[in-house]
Amino acid sequence: MSETSKSKELKEKLFKQNKNGYLKARKEDLEQISDFAKNYADFLDHSRTERLFVKNAIELATKNGFTEFDPDKKYSAGERVYLNNRGKAVILAVIGTQPITNGVMIAAAHVDSPRIDLKANPLYESGELGYFKTHYYGGIKKYQWPTVPLALFGTVIKADGTVVDVAIGDKKEDPKFVITDLLPHLAQEQYKRTPGQLIRGEELNVLIGSRPFNDDEESESVKLNIMSILNEKYGIIESDFISAELSVVPAGEVCDIGFDRSLVGGYGHDDRVCSYPAMMAAINAKAPAKTVITVLTDKEEIGSDGNTGLQSDYLKNFVYDLARANGADGWRVLAKSKCLSADVNAAFDPTFPDVFESNNSSVINGGVVITKYTGSHGKSGSSDASAEYMGYIRKLLNDNEVVWQTGELGKVDAGGGGTVAAYIANLDVDTVDLGVPVLSMHAPFEVISKFDLYMAYRAFSAFFDAQ
Ligand code: MN
Ligand code: MN
Repeated sequence: MSETSKSKELKEKLFKQNKNGYLKARKEDLEQISDFAKNYADFLDHSRTERLFVKNAIELATKNGFTEFDPDKKYSAGERVYLNNRGKAVILAVIGTQPITNGVMIAAAHVDSPRIDLKANPLYESGELGYFKTHYYGGIKKYQWPTVPLALFGTVIKADGTVVDVAIGDKKEDPKFVITDLLPHLAQEQYKRTPGQLIRGEELNVLIGSRPFNDDEESESVKLNIMSILNEKYGIIESDFISAELSVVPAGEVCDIGFDRSLVGGYGHDDRVCSYPAMMAAINAKAPAKTVITVLTDKEEIGSDGNTGLQSDYLKNFVYDLARANGADGWRVLAKSKCLSADVNAAFDPTFPDVFESNNSSVINGGVVITKYTGSHGKSGSSDASAEYMGYIRKLLNDNEVVWQTGELGKVDAGGGGTVAAYIANLDVDTVDLGVPVLSMHAPFEVISKFDLYMAYRAFSAFFDAQ
């Protein structure tokens, strides 16, 4: 053996292999990857808010034998239940064959995404144009949101308590809405602003109409005309906006990106690109050994507070209810449980290499990303998974031929971010982050790889199949 081939052999044995996932994929996976991505794109197109995602998830689960959870009932192996948390978060569970005291397997992802919410008094007229005042939700680069076609979704509770669901802009023939920006010809002063202020929060005003009600001399007749259209279509009056949750989100369809169609572009991959495969893994779980739970939660983008976010007790209470029905203590069940906190990570972007540390960034087509810790500065806000649990997940993925990689969100002092991992770990559950790398995270149009999406599904399925 020559010296060259000896070092080649030793390198293969000792070094970590960094290959594009497509070159490592199993033949049977290659056929599944594009089918899975197509179904995901269809689902995402119809699930642009947490409420819509939850509604569609429950509909799909019900078709697949899930029934509404009854906390007082004792369920037997193979039974499938869902818990609807106020229409904004949902838990799907399949009861395992092993006793619940062996612990449960939890996949947790979030279904809210950065967006622009309407204020309580949103409707106004200025310069004979109709507008909505807004307050953005989550971490957005505000300058990215003007001049993008927008759709309006949400729920209005009228004065008499009637519930009205609003959805305008998701169908081709629907009108869209837009935030305007200044033309470059007149932007000299705007360019002097700091990038975070290039478009200010109070400039995210949504253009919603321009036609006056009629030609009489009443003031605010554009506003009147819009209110009259809304009243005709939804039966609402201006004060009903106060008891409403209305969100403006990008309207464009999810689509393939690239000549090779290897990528998917669209709004809300963070974190529906993890929610969808985690949901499908629960729906396709047949007779798991341990009870498997997918929780699709709300409010992650603004800190997970509130009763539909994972800082609330709803997941813990669900596990306690399952435990109690089996005569077990909830905390004992949680102490034996495992969790994949499923959230996206920042994919290495070759156009902006400076913020990434190339040895420890996730890459597109590298497979599903395991992130031992998130947080910022000195791992602040991270639950930091143990070596033992990292070892467990690594072996599980390898045994099931899931293509995976590790990734840290950017350079140590470049910024940072958190996930729901810490809140589940705080329940005394072994938890680590696992998800899909994303380009242009939190932009109105984000990009992911079909390969990585499918590997996330394979990872959740392997996790739910574990003994
Ligand atoms: Mn996320
Ligand atoms: Mn996010």
